[in-house]
Amino acid sequence: MADTTFLEWPFLEEKHRTLAAKLEAWAQINLPVDHSDVDRACRELVSLLGLAGWLDYTSVNPDTGDAIDVRSLCIIRETLARHDGLADFAFAMQGLGTGALSLFGTLEQQTLLKGTRSGMLVSAFALTEPETGSDAARLATSAEDCGDCYVLNGEKTWISNGGIADYYTVFARTGNIAGAKGISAFMVMADTPGLEVVERLEAVAPHPLAHLRFNHVKVPKSALIGEEGQGFKIAMSVLDVFRASVGAAALGFARRALEESLSRVTSRKIFDAPMADLQMVQGHIADMALEIDAAALLVYRAAWKKDSGAVRITREAAMAKLYATEAGQRVIDQAVQLHGGDGVRRGTIVESLYREIRALRIYEGASDVQKVVIARSVIAN
Ligand SMILES: Cc1cc2nc3c(=O)[nH]c(=O)nc-3n(C[C@H](O)[C@H](O)[C@H](O)COP(=O)(O)OP(=O)(O)OC[C@H]3O[C@@H](n4cnc5c(N)ncnc54)[C@H](O)[C@@H]3O)c2cc1C
Repeated sequence: MADTTFLEWPFLEEKHRTLAAKLEAWAQINLPVDHSDVDRACRELVSLLGLAGWLDYTSVNPDTGDAIDVRSLCIIRETLARHDGLADFAFAMQGLGTGALSLFGTLEQQTLLKGTRSGMLVSAFALTEPETGSDAARLATSAEDCGDCYVLNGEKTWISNGGIADYYTVFARTGNIAGAKGISAFMVMADTPGLEVVERLEAVAPHPLAHLRFNHVKVPKSALIGEEGQGFKIAMSVLDVFRASVGAAALGFARRALEESLSRVTSRKIFDAPMADLQMVQGHIADMALEIDAAALLVYRAAWKKDSGAVRITREAAMAKLYATEAGQRVIDQAVQLHGGDGVRRGTIVESLYREIRALRIYEGASDVQKVVIARSVIAN
């Protein structure tokens, strides 16, 4: 059983403790699902999570206007990640894919959220392009104003849920302004003519991922989210909300790695004694527990600050994501070490955690980019 003492920290309220207990009970019964067909598994997970009501936490409530509670988002992501990385992915993408609608959509646009919250619609976030990743402000996909519509042309790559999504939030360039100020955000349904899945991408930890092409994709004027030229600000605001939750997912993976390690070192004997009696092994356990608590403090500090009304939490979210993902990698690496040969045997839990954690240090802003963000904020103050 994972350590739950963090739930008593002052960043969290009674509603978070109740949520954690209910989700833990649900996850123990329903997870993990069979991953042999990753597309089918993701659709099944979205449907399961929607049916159980967990996807209600991924967006604003389109009926009441209640905002996203970032601490709930983090608790759910760390719990799901601890049980099944794909369940965390399915949950997170419903939020990231519709974040622009939650934060900037009109009431009419937000009706789509009923579908993503119930698990009927799968959503995706399409920012990255073959030539622009970290430097997203230079993206090239265009959205030409054609009077009563926009026509999108360009390519997007590394799009999570690409190929299985029903709905994409797409970032494209409007007008002639270069850089961030020329970008706008659009709602694009997957069956819109001209939207093509060019290639499915395979990563070390299998998830639905695709390279997309927009070939004269026509969307109505009502598909524009926010105003023309606001797209980069929209993308960064969405990432501001969800970035701390990437740290929470890393935390979930790390907690599972520690759980697996504790079970290993207390049950396995080396040199006629439990591994846990060896002080070098205790050193690993201490390092892991320390990094997990430090990561959790940063994740829940960022989430608490956002829920307390901060407009942006750029520095706190960058610190949470950077530290929790890098520490998660170190914790899992130590777990692999403590498992000896079994640590690298395909199919063991620590082996799959070792593959799962890696991409978190790259997407939604690579670790190096988070350092730049933190340094800029520290220097400016
Ligand atoms: C599994 C996975 C899922 C993804 N899902 C999505 C998605 O759903 N939607 C989406 O739009 N994108 C998605 N991405 C894309 C992801 O956001 C990009 O891969 C990421 O932003 C890095 O861009 P890049 O791959 O082009 O690398 P590059 O931008 O070429 O960067 C390569 C490396 O350069 C270094 N670097 C970059 N900038 C700096 C800097 N300023 N200072 C120092 N070093 C730097 C970093 O080490 C970085 O890893 C996903 C990627 C992966 C791997």
